[in-house]
Amino acid sequence: MVHCPYCLSAVSENDFVCPACGAEKGYVYFNRKSRGLIFLLMFGLLVPVAVVLAVPLYFQGIGASFWVAVTIALGIGIFTVHRLIVGPTWYR
Ligand SMILES: [Zn+2]
Repeated sequence: MVHCPYCLSAVSENDFVCPACGAEKGYVYFNRKSRGLIFLLMFGLLVPVAVVLAVPLYFQGIGASFWVAVTIALGIGIFTVHRLIVGPTWYR
């Protein structure tokens, strides 16, 4: 049992919604809304990797745009890994 940080009701470890106040638990993302683990993995890891792979094809070679894409993807990737380590958090 854990306690909802908003209303202090007892909540099961497996619950993602507080039955008392409706607070939700999840992976808070850029817009401070929880999106769930699949969304986090998709847009935090798969999309950045896809963009990095697509840029050299689109610009026909590895140039400055590639390294810009790598830098952005690394930033998003580090943010995503940090979110995964922190785990789901409560928000309302
Ligand atoms: Zn609650």
